[in-house]
Amino acid sequence: MKPWLLNQLLALQEHMDNQFTFVKAPNAPVSEDEILEDLRRVSDELGSEKITQRIYAEKGKFDVSTASRKFGSWNKALEAAGLKASNVINVTDEELFTNILELWEHLGRQPRRSDLTNPLSKYSQSPYNRRFNNWTNALQNFVVWANGEELTAPEVEEQEKTERKTGRDPSLRLRFRVMQRDNFSCKHCGASPAKDPSVVLHVDHIVPWSKGGKTIMENLQTLCSKCNLGKSNL
Ligand SMILES: [Zn+2]
Repeated sequence: MKPWLLNQLLALQEHMDNQFTFVKAPNAPVSEDEILEDLRRVSDELGSEKITQRIYAEKGKFDVSTASRKFGSWNKALEAAGLKASNVINVTDEELFTNILELWEHLGRQPRRSDLTNPLSKYSQSPYNRRFNNWTNALQNFVVWANGEELTAPEVEEQEKTERKTGRDPSLRLRFRVMQRDNFSCKHCGASPAKDPSVVLHVDHIVPWSKGGKTIMENLQTLCSKCNLGKSNL
C-alpha cells in the first residue's frame, strides 16, 4: 500500500471514529509517573477516588499487574496517586449487614455471592471474606443481626407525653422484617422485585402514623410503589 493511501485511510478512520483507540502494550516500559498520572485520569473520569482493579483493567492504559508490581501492591499504587485504597479495611459489621439488607430488599430475595458485583452493592466479596471467611457465614451472621432487638422505631422524646409512642420511620431492621414476613412482595398486588426488577417496595403504615398508627410489625405492610401511591391518593 502506498504511504499516501495509508495516510488517507488513517485520516478517514480518524474522521469516522473521531478518536484513536489506545492499544495496550503489556510489555512496553512504563514509568511510575505515567502510571500515577493515568490512575488520576481514570479517577477524574469516574468522579471517584476509589478505583478497583477491575475498573482499571477496563479504563486504564496499563496493566493492573504492572502498577501493582511497581508500587508493591494495588493499594499502594492508589495511595501514591493520592487516591483511596480500594478495599476499605475498617468497614463495620453494621455497614456490611446494612449493605446485605439493602441488596435483599432491592432484589426481593436473598442476595447471592455473585450479587456483590452488582453496582448496587457498596462492597465486594473481600470485606465479607475477611470478616466472615465466606458468604454463607456472612449471611448467617446477618440473619442473627436482622432478627435481633430494635423492633420498633426509636422512641419519641418522653417530654411530650402524647399518645404517639413510636417514631414514624421504622428502623432498617424493622423494615427488613416486615418485608421478610410479606415475602418481599406487595400485599395488594403481589408484585415482587424477585420477579420484576423494576418493582420498588415500600413499608407502609396500615393505620397512618398521622392518625396515631404505630410503627410496629402489626401496623406495617409491604406495598409496591404503585399501590403505595394509589393508597395515598385515596
Ligand atoms: Zn402493588
